[in-house]
Amino acid sequence: MSVSSEDLFGQILGLGEDWEVFQTESVEERNTIFIRVRETASLLSSQRCREDKRYKVKLYDHAPRRFWRHLNVFNGECVIECALPRLQCNHCGKIWRAKAPWEGKCKGLSNEFEAFALTLMKEMPVKSAGEILARMTIACGVC
Ligand SMILES: [Zn+2]
Repeated sequence: MSVSSEDLFGQILGLGEDWEVFQTESVEERNTIFIRVRETASLLSSQRCREDKRYKVKLYDHAPRRFWRHLNVFNGECVIECALPRLQCNHCGKIWRAKAPWEGKCKGLSNEFEAFALTLMKEMPVKSAGEILARMTIACGVC
């Protein structure tokens, strides 16, 4: 049985059932792998209204496409790309943006990248850690 690169990256990112990798693109001149993710039908059935958990939601639309710098994969830079869905409550009509499992606290960084950055800062002088992180993020070019 062969595993597609989409399935492989979905497992690496730990996306679960609510999200799927639908495309990967390796941009060789930038040594970057773009991982394009979208929600699955299961997201809509697993979410409930934020005001009242009894009520189900539907897809309203998608927010503009965003990018998150993720940890390097196969020695290449890894960027997650996704237009996050906006959900609407079937009952009260409120609309909000779905939260993705990889979102970090900083815009443009995945939670695993943030955890890596924090480890670096603990283990080495801040200046050295800053230099490594600057090299990793500036080269990205999209975030
Ligand atoms: Zn509601």
